[in-house]
Amino acid sequence: MGRYLGAVCRLCRREGMKLFLKGTKCNTEKCTIARRAYAPGQHGKNRIKLSNYGVQLREKQKVKRTYGVLERQFRKYFDIASKTKGVTGKVLLQLLERRIDNVIYRMGFALSRSEARQIVRHNHVYVNSKRVNIPSYLVSKDDTVQVKSNREKALGRIRDNTEITKDRAIPEWLQVDKAALSARVYRLPEKEDIQQPIQEQLIVELYSK
Ligand code: SF4
Repeated sequence: MGRYLGAVCRLCRREGMKLFLKGTKCNTEKCTIARRAYAPGQHGKNRIKLSNYGVQLREKQKVKRTYGVLERQFRKYFDIASKTKGVTGKVLLQLLERRIDNVIYRMGFALSRSEARQIVRHNHVYVNSKRVNIPSYLVSKDDTVQVKSNREKALGRIRDNTEITKDRAIPEWLQVDKAALSARVYRLPEKEDIQQPIQEQLIVELYSK
Protein backbone atom coordinates (compact mmCIF):
# COMPACT_ATOMS: atom_id res chain seq x y z
CA MET A 1 0.00 0.00 0.00
CA GLY A 2 1.25 3.51 -0.79
CA ARG A 3 1.94 6.04 1.89
CA TYR A 4 2.76 9.71 2.24
CA LEU A 5 6.50 10.28 1.93
CA GLY A 6 6.67 14.08 2.13
CA ALA A 7 7.61 16.30 5.08
CA VAL A 8 5.19 15.36 7.86
CA CYS A 9 5.47 18.61 9.84
CA ARG A 10 3.85 20.37 6.87
CA LEU A 11 0.77 18.22 7.49
CA CYS A 12 0.50 19.51 11.07
CA ARG A 13 0.94 23.08 9.89
CA ARG A 14 -1.75 22.58 7.25
CA GLU A 15 -4.20 21.28 9.88
CA GLY A 16 -3.17 23.96 12.39
CA MET A 17 -2.48 21.49 15.17
CA LYS A 18 -0.04 18.86 16.37
CA LEU A 19 -0.72 15.48 14.79
CA PHE A 20 2.26 13.86 16.57
CA LEU A 21 3.78 12.35 13.44
CA LYS A 22 7.46 12.67 14.33
CA GLY A 23 7.99 10.97 17.65
CA THR A 24 10.05 12.68 20.35
CA LYS A 25 10.43 15.96 18.45
CA CYS A 26 6.67 16.52 18.77
CA ASN A 27 6.92 17.07 22.52
CA THR A 28 9.90 19.42 22.41
CA GLU A 29 10.34 23.07 21.60
CA LYS A 30 11.78 21.93 18.27
CA CYS A 31 8.25 21.06 17.11
CA THR A 32 7.79 22.93 13.85
CA ILE A 33 4.25 24.05 14.57
CA ALA A 34 5.39 25.68 17.80
CA ARG A 35 7.78 27.81 15.76
CA ARG A 36 5.72 28.33 12.60
CA ALA A 37 2.06 28.15 13.51
CA TYR A 38 0.72 28.94 10.07
CA ALA A 39 -0.07 26.88 7.00
CA PRO A 40 2.80 26.02 4.65
CA GLY A 41 3.23 27.67 1.26
CA GLN A 42 3.39 31.20 -0.12
CA HIS A 43 -0.06 32.22 1.17
CA GLY A 44 0.16 30.26 4.40
CA LYS A 45 0.05 33.34 6.59
CA ASN A 46 -3.12 34.67 4.94
CA ARG A 47 -6.25 33.98 6.91
CA ILE A 48 -8.87 32.26 4.79
CA LYS A 49 -12.42 31.76 5.97
CA LEU A 50 -13.33 28.18 5.19
CA SER A 51 -16.67 27.18 3.68
CA ASN A 52 -18.67 24.37 5.33
CA TYR A 53 -17.18 22.00 2.80
CA GLY A 54 -13.69 23.28 3.63
CA VAL A 55 -14.21 22.68 7.36
CA GLN A 56 -15.45 19.12 6.71
CA LEU A 57 -12.58 18.43 4.34
CA ARG A 58 -9.97 19.66 6.84
CA GLU A 59 -11.44 17.44 9.57
CA LYS A 60 -11.27 14.41 7.31
CA GLN A 61 -7.69 15.21 6.28
CA LYS A 62 -6.69 15.72 9.91
CA VAL A 63 -7.94 12.28 10.96
CA LYS A 64 -6.57 10.57 7.87
CA ARG A 65 -3.15 12.07 8.42
CA THR A 66 -3.13 11.35 12.13
CA TYR A 67 -3.59 7.63 11.47
CA GLY A 68 -1.39 7.62 8.35
CA VAL A 69 -4.14 6.25 6.12
CA LEU A 70 -4.52 7.15 2.44
CA GLU A 71 -7.79 8.26 0.86
CA ARG A 72 -8.89 4.98 -0.67
CA GLN A 73 -8.48 3.03 2.57
CA PHE A 74 -10.04 5.79 4.63
CA ARG A 75 -13.06 5.75 2.36
CA LYS A 76 -13.22 1.97 2.75
CA TYR A 77 -13.32 2.38 6.54
CA PHE A 78 -16.14 4.87 6.13
CA ASP A 79 -18.12 2.47 3.92
CA ILE A 80 -17.68 -0.33 6.49
CA ALA A 81 -18.69 2.05 9.30
CA SER A 82 -21.80 3.22 7.48
CA LYS A 83 -22.95 -0.40 7.04
CA THR A 84 -22.22 -1.31 10.66
CA LYS A 85 -24.76 -0.99 13.46
CA GLY A 86 -24.05 2.08 15.58
CA VAL A 87 -23.15 5.74 15.06
CA THR A 88 -21.16 5.88 11.80
CA GLY A 89 -18.59 8.47 12.95
CA LYS A 90 -17.87 6.60 16.15
CA VAL A 91 -17.56 3.25 14.37
CA LEU A 92 -15.16 4.91 11.90
CA LEU A 93 -12.91 6.09 14.73
CA GLN A 94 -13.10 2.68 16.37
CA LEU A 95 -11.92 1.00 13.16
CA LEU A 96 -8.96 3.37 12.94
CA GLU A 97 -8.04 2.82 16.60
CA ARG A 98 -8.19 -0.96 16.17
CA ARG A 99 -5.45 -0.97 13.51
CA ILE A 100 -2.48 -2.93 14.79
CA ASP A 101 -0.04 -0.10 13.97
CA ASN A 102 -2.12 2.24 16.11
CA VAL A 103 -2.26 -0.37 18.90
CA ILE A 104 1.56 -0.66 18.95
CA TYR A 105 1.78 3.15 19.10
CA ARG A 106 -0.83 3.38 21.87
CA MET A 107 1.01 0.68 23.85
CA GLY A 108 4.00 3.03 23.92
CA PHE A 109 6.23 0.65 21.95
CA ALA A 110 6.73 3.13 19.12
CA LEU A 111 7.29 6.88 19.17
CA SER A 112 5.01 7.49 16.19
CA ARG A 113 2.48 5.53 14.17
CA SER A 114 4.92 5.37 11.26
CA GLU A 115 7.51 3.70 13.51
CA ALA A 116 4.79 1.34 14.74
CA ARG A 117 4.00 0.47 11.13
CA GLN A 118 7.66 -0.38 10.58
CA ILE A 119 7.70 -2.63 13.67
CA VAL A 120 4.69 -4.49 12.26
CA ARG A 121 6.13 -4.77 8.75
CA HIS A 122 9.41 -6.10 10.13
CA ASN A 123 7.61 -9.13 11.56
CA HIS A 124 8.00 -8.23 15.23
CA VAL A 125 4.29 -8.36 16.12
CA TYR A 126 2.15 -11.35 17.08
CA VAL A 127 -1.57 -11.41 17.76
CA ASN A 128 -2.78 -14.47 19.68
CA SER A 129 0.63 -16.07 18.96
CA LYS A 130 0.26 -15.65 15.19
CA ARG A 131 2.57 -13.29 13.36
CA VAL A 132 0.86 -10.21 11.90
CA ASN A 133 2.78 -8.03 9.46
CA ILE A 134 -0.07 -6.05 7.93
CA PRO A 135 -0.38 -2.61 9.61
CA SER A 136 -4.11 -2.38 8.81
CA TYR A 137 -4.91 -5.62 10.70
CA LEU A 138 -7.76 -4.92 13.15
CA VAL A 139 -7.53 -6.21 16.69
CA SER A 140 -10.60 -7.60 18.47
CA LYS A 141 -11.70 -7.79 22.09
CA ASP A 142 -9.60 -10.23 24.15
CA ASP A 143 -6.80 -10.40 21.58
CA THR A 144 -3.28 -10.65 22.97
CA VAL A 145 -0.70 -8.52 21.21
CA GLN A 146 2.94 -9.43 21.71
CA VAL A 147 6.15 -7.87 20.38
CA LYS A 148 8.93 -10.41 19.81
CA SER A 149 12.13 -10.49 17.87
CA ASN A 150 15.32 -12.48 17.74
CA ARG A 151 17.08 -9.32 16.61
CA GLU A 152 18.48 -7.80 19.78
CA LYS A 153 18.92 -4.37 18.19
CA ALA A 154 15.24 -4.14 17.19
CA LEU A 155 14.11 -5.34 20.60
CA GLY A 156 16.44 -2.89 22.35
CA ARG A 157 14.96 -0.01 20.39
CA ILE A 158 11.41 -1.04 21.30
CA ARG A 159 12.39 -1.31 24.98
CA ASP A 160 13.97 2.15 24.76
CA ASN A 161 10.70 3.44 23.32
CA THR A 162 8.74 2.09 26.30
CA GLU A 163 11.04 4.14 28.52
CA ILE A 164 10.74 7.32 26.41
CA THR A 165 6.94 7.01 26.34
CA LYS A 166 6.54 6.14 30.03
CA ASP A 167 4.67 9.39 30.74
CA ARG A 168 2.30 8.95 27.80
CA ALA A 169 -1.16 7.84 28.90
CA ILE A 170 -2.11 4.32 27.80
CA PRO A 171 -5.79 4.08 26.86
CA GLU A 172 -8.02 2.09 29.21
CA TRP A 173 -9.05 -0.40 26.53
CA LEU A 174 -5.51 -1.84 26.51
CA GLN A 175 -3.92 -3.71 29.42
CA VAL A 176 -0.23 -3.31 28.75
CA ASP A 177 2.60 -5.31 30.29
CA LYS A 178 5.66 -3.31 29.30
CA ALA A 179 8.13 -5.78 30.81
CA ALA A 180 6.67 -8.61 28.71
CA LEU A 181 6.18 -6.30 25.69
CA SER A 182 2.59 -7.43 25.42
CA ALA A 183 -0.97 -6.21 25.84
CA ARG A 184 -4.49 -7.56 26.04
CA VAL A 185 -7.37 -5.84 24.27
CA TYR A 186 -9.57 -5.47 27.31
CA ARG A 187 -12.46 -3.94 25.35
CA LEU A 188 -12.98 -2.17 22.03
CA PRO A 189 -11.95 1.51 21.92
CA GLU A 190 -14.55 4.27 22.22
CA LYS A 191 -14.47 7.83 20.96
CA GLU A 192 -13.90 8.99 24.57
CA ASP A 193 -10.59 7.07 24.61
CA ILE A 194 -9.17 9.34 21.92
CA GLN A 195 -7.72 12.44 23.53
CA GLN A 196 -7.24 14.37 20.33
CA PRO A 197 -10.22 16.63 19.50
CA ILE A 198 -12.05 15.06 16.56
CA GLN A 199 -15.42 16.10 15.16
CA GLU A 200 -16.23 12.87 13.37
CA GLN A 201 -19.72 14.05 12.37
CA LEU A 202 -18.06 16.51 9.95
CA ILE A 203 -16.46 13.56 8.14
CA VAL A 204 -19.82 11.78 7.98
CA GLU A 205 -21.40 14.93 6.51
CA LEU A 206 -18.61 15.22 3.94
CA TYR A 207 -18.95 11.66 2.69
CA SER A 208 -22.75 11.72 2.82
CA LYS A 209 -23.08 14.49 0.20
FE1 SF4 B 1 3.73 17.79 13.98
FE2 SF4 B 1 5.50 16.49 15.44
FE3 SF4 B 1 6.31 17.99 13.38
FE4 SF4 B 1 5.38 19.11 15.63
S1 SF4 B 1 7.23 17.89 15.38
S2 SF4 B 1 4.84 19.70 13.55
S3 SF4 B 1 3.73 17.66 16.19
S4 SF4 B 1 5.05 16.14 13.28
